[in-house]
Amino acid sequence: MSRRRQIYEGKAKVLFEGPEPGTIVQYFKDDASAFNNKKRGTITGKGVLNNRISEFLMLRLAEIGIPTHFVRRLNMREQLVRELEMIPIGVVVRNLAAGSLSTRLGIPEGTSLPRSIIEYYLKRDELQDPLVSEEHITAFGWASTQELDEIVQIALRVNDFLTGLFLGINIRLVDFKLEFGRLYGEDEMRIVVADEISPDNCRLWDARTREKMDKDRFRQDLGRVEEGYQEVARRLGILPEGGPGDLKGPRAIQ
Ligand code: 5GP
Repeated sequence: MSRRRQIYEGKAKVLFEGPEPGTIVQYFKDDASAFNNKKRGTITGKGVLNNRISEFLMLRLAEIGIPTHFVRRLNMREQLVRELEMIPIGVVVRNLAAGSLSTRLGIPEGTSLPRSIIEYYLKRDELQDPLVSEEHITAFGWASTQELDEIVQIALRVNDFLTGLFLGINIRLVDFKLEFGRLYGEDEMRIVVADEISPDNCRLWDARTREKMDKDRFRQDLGRVEEGYQEVARRLGILPEGGPGDLKGPRAIQ
């Protein structure tokens, strides 16, 4: 980890300069934070699981033609991704009411929404990632109208696809947050899915019992947090060989 140039350290990941120009290495930590960093902790093995889960989901998206930044997984905690010009907006898609939607609008958790709802949050730690409208995004130039149209199209396709994928393993996709970036080619620019897709940024409930299998177990002190993430990986068929024993602590970089 120490030999490469660190570009950025976030709450759950560290980014390093990649081996080739235009690439970045994402290192997944076990650190967890919630409520704008007011609550912090460690979820043992989370980084290893999120690296695998995000790899799996990004590859499935690529298979159906949704462009992502993912290149390949490098080892237990790292993946190679394409360097993007990031759009500073978190895009949340919701299928059932939960979290900040329930709190803000008083809609009971678990209420089915009449249709999928998209929300935008400005990624600005010092402002606690405020909810913003399309008008704000285009007026302040964070993304153009055309880019936003493409972002919405991609977000809804991701939602349809992941909803089905998770239902197939008896998991309800309640909501999730995506990030997007611009990937510049020779003479064109494409909007691609960035960051990660994992139980850190998706709400995932057992479809039958509604048991939570995501970061809400940490946010709400529900206990058995690691087990929630492990169960998602197990149902996806990607628990690392050797099982949860493999998930302890960081690994030497290969
Ligand atoms: P809420 O707005 O209800 O807190 O979150 C909606 C969804 O987006 C949840 O699945 C949540 O995990 C995800 N999400 C929202 N903001 C963030 C964030 O800053 N970081 C991460 N990891 N996930 C987020």
